[in-house]
Amino acid sequence: MIYKRSSALFAKAEKVIPGGVNSPVRAFKGVGGTPIFVKEAKGAYLYDEDGNRLIDYINSWGPMILGHAYEPVVNAVIEKAKKGTSFGMPTEIETQIAELTVSMVPNVDKIRFVNSGTEACMSAIRLARGFTGKDRIIKFAGCYHGHSDSFLIQAGSGASTFGTPNSPGVTKGTAKDTLLACYNDIEHVKALIEANKNEIACIIIEPVAGNMGCIPPKAGFLKGLRGLCDANGILLVFDEVMTGFRLAKGGAQELFSINADIVCFGKVIGGGLPVGAFAARNEIMNHLAPLGPVYQAGTLSGNPLAMAAGLAMLTVLNNDNEIFNRLAKKTEYLHQGISKVLIENNITHTINRTGSMISVHFDEGDVVDFDTAAKGNNETFKKFFHGMLNEGVYIAPSAFETWFITDALTYEDLDFTIATINKVAKTL
Ligand SMILES: *Cc1c(COP(=O)(O)O)cnc(C)c1O
Repeated sequence: MIYKRSSALFAKAEKVIPGGVNSPVRAFKGVGGTPIFVKEAKGAYLYDEDGNRLIDYINSWGPMILGHAYEPVVNAVIEKAKKGTSFGMPTEIETQIAELTVSMVPNVDKIRFVNSGTEACMSAIRLARGFTGKDRIIKFAGCYHGHSDSFLIQAGSGASTFGTPNSPGVTKGTAKDTLLACYNDIEHVKALIEANKNEIACIIIEPVAGNMGCIPPKAGFLKGLRGLCDANGILLVFDEVMTGFRLAKGGAQELFSINADIVCFGKVIGGGLPVGAFAARNEIMNHLAPLGPVYQAGTLSGNPLAMAAGLAMLTVLNNDNEIFNRLAKKTEYLHQGISKVLIENNITHTINRTGSMISVHFDEGDVVDFDTAAKGNNETFKKFFHGMLNEGVYIAPSAFETWFITDALTYEDLDFTIATINKVAKTL
């Protein structure tokens, strides 16, 4: 494949944008080489500036669950745009998407829309603190909740790739209120709570971790957290920015039959436009301004174009009772195909999968938390990544990322991908 124009565009971008990108993982630092500049995308495919076609397994890191440039979403945005793009005043469509989301997600009465997953998580913990009157939070090593200060403490993916789990610029005062627990280790969480009696406002977790590769919760782990929260007056916050509207209509709460107290959304909820949201029961949400004292706001929050895209996307997901099964079946097919060819080629690996999230770890033994995810062979991953890219298959440029399966992928695409992995495995 030729990357001439992408390389030239990257060189130009580097002069005026730090690292040439507006979000670090795009810069390919974890794998080397030059980022691909996208010209357009349709369905399961990306078309880059050099005219290469790539099968896309990232899909904007999750949002494009129905494939790129999905017509009902595109048309909804075009029609809305003709009527004005932002007012800073209420619009009916905000209520429509709120009604739909509240009907799809278990255990929530009200939802507030923001502009990113980062904002959703940041606001959710402020609300948890305001509601409980306590300052500290527990997060899990390797879980990512966006880039706000409280969360940049062993934050998975981007941060892990660069080996900078703690970012300069985060104050010691902020860091001390974030307690770090080990994913899938309920005893560790119990001990942290014991050591910080009556100080913990919330436990925030990716109910299926997706930012250290895909790491499903062990049986009973989420239930254990629910029990600890109930016993200690702590709120359980599910960060469903990745899992929401992807694993089931009601996300991980529905899939695992566990109620969270506050749920955060992003990615799929915006249909590819910048949207985040957080939701909870009335008793919690009513603490939010203007009803209550916890402040949270946004000039472009509930933006009509963003709401139109999200509403069109969620309507399709809500009306298709087979979508999540179909996605899970495709992902399982891919899983089996990849396992078969990697075993045939004697490549040490572990594959994790939940629903339409899957990750391949070049590591033996179970990958259950940040430490076991970090043991994967990054040199093998780099070769794998570039080998796949060269054959027209785009996976995330980091060993710590999940692949996202879309409804636009055909079984032919999956077979092509498996055959490509067979070919690339011979070079590892
Ligand atoms: C992507 C992600 C975020 C951050 O969302 P942004 O829209 O990038 O700010 C937060 N939490 C999880 C679990 C995510 O995957």
